[in-house]
Amino acid sequence: MRANLVTIVAAVGVLAVQPVRTPISLVVVGKTVLTQNIRRQVLSPGAVAINGNAIVDVDAPTTIALKYRAGETINARDEIVLPGLVNTHTHAPMVMYRGLADDLALMEWLNKYIFPAEAKTVSPEMVRVGTRLAALEMIESGTTTYADMYYFEEEVARVTKEAGLRGVLGETIIQFPVADAKTPIEGLARTERFIKLYKDDALIVPAVAPHAMYTNDKATLLASVQLARRYGVPVIIHLAETENELKTAREKYQMTPTAYLESIGFWGPPSDRQNTHTIAAHGVWVNDEDVAILKRRGIGVSHNPESNMKLSSGTAPVAMYLAAGVALGLGTDGAASNNDLDMFEAMRQASFLAKHATGDPTAVPAQTALDLATIGGARALGMERLIGSLEPGKRADLITVSMNSARQTPLYDAVSHLVYVTRGDDVRTTIVDGKVLMKDRQMKTLDRAAVIADANRLAGRVKEAVGR
Ligand SMILES: [Zn+2]
Repeated sequence: MRANLVTIVAAVGVLAVQPVRTPISLVVVGKTVLTQNIRRQVLSPGAVAINGNAIVDVDAPTTIALKYRAGETINARDEIVLPGLVNTHTHAPMVMYRGLADDLALMEWLNKYIFPAEAKTVSPEMVRVGTRLAALEMIESGTTTYADMYYFEEEVARVTKEAGLRGVLGETIIQFPVADAKTPIEGLARTERFIKLYKDDALIVPAVAPHAMYTNDKATLLASVQLARRYGVPVIIHLAETENELKTAREKYQMTPTAYLESIGFWGPPSDRQNTHTIAAHGVWVNDEDVAILKRRGIGVSHNPESNMKLSSGTAPVAMYLAAGVALGLGTDGAASNNDLDMFEAMRQASFLAKHATGDPTAVPAQTALDLATIGGARALGMERLIGSLEPGKRADLITVSMNSARQTPLYDAVSHLVYVTRGDDVRTTIVDGKVLMKDRQMKTLDRAAVIADANRLAGRVKEAVGR
């Protein structure tokens, strides 16, 4: 008995001297860690412990060092560590049309330039090359998850996985013939194949993306949601983007676009336990009742301030959405109407636009803008249990941002700097699902030079096709 006690005491003594450290794959140490958890906890300094694809701990670097033995440590002691940014609306391959036609209103821009350019140039190759370029830009500017709708979405998915990004990717359903489907029926069949292919993927969430209420008839809109519900995947749709869309809906149905979609059961019957989630992009031309519908249905709304301003589409009522508790996120929209995929700029413009439009300088303060680009975006995509904040159990999607440029000096408040002076180029390291995609601005998953060369080569064909 006594001998046993001595052994135990000796063993405890050894443990105290050399605590057992849990082996994990990666630790990221930062000057400041913005967790974006419910308390918006900030650690200065801080460290994020990662094992495999998940965050296991967030604490002071000394505490993390005592508890864990990491296979790799990223020392970002001069940098800010925060959740990867969530872009809730874009069309990745449209980077190929960046700067092709500017300074036009949405309908003229679409009908005269974008739709004809797409008719002549969209192909699986264009989608691959474009998505690779978009992925490069997103990784380099700190986006770790993006929601997309385009054509040949299986190619978008393949490239997104290759690049290591997380994507909610919707195959577009539209009433008129497009590159990957002659009819919406064909589009739906293609979508179903796409869903089956990516249903249980670690990085890709396949989605059904009826383009908008004005580009699809009622049967197609309903068939789209039915397909999504059958497989339990999200729906992505453009909603109330322009005044023209509102006018069309009023003339045809004597209703707003939101109310029309409600009336046909697109958002789901009232007591239906939906196994799907819907993301509505733009939501500019909405009234109080529309916002109440979106809130009641649990719809995620993607606010795209830069695209809305550039196309002069209008101003989304962000304050109204926030007051109603709608799941609101930020998006860049396609690069052809922005013209980049930089979520730092989206945060800044969301804040400025809200202040300018309401005459209230307290509208969308820096913390709110950061929330919209992180946990808010995650909620808008229905993914808040997985991403959007740095918390144990969530996926390890995070970025580090340098804070020592002239533009960022002096540094009193990291959140202020992230929203008001930081650019995508300040991102140093991007990690998705525990995998390092870029470290100290060195791309790990994509061949940067090849991606840009391929895009330039393909741009020659786009130029030729549109006669420029
Ligand atoms: Zn869009």
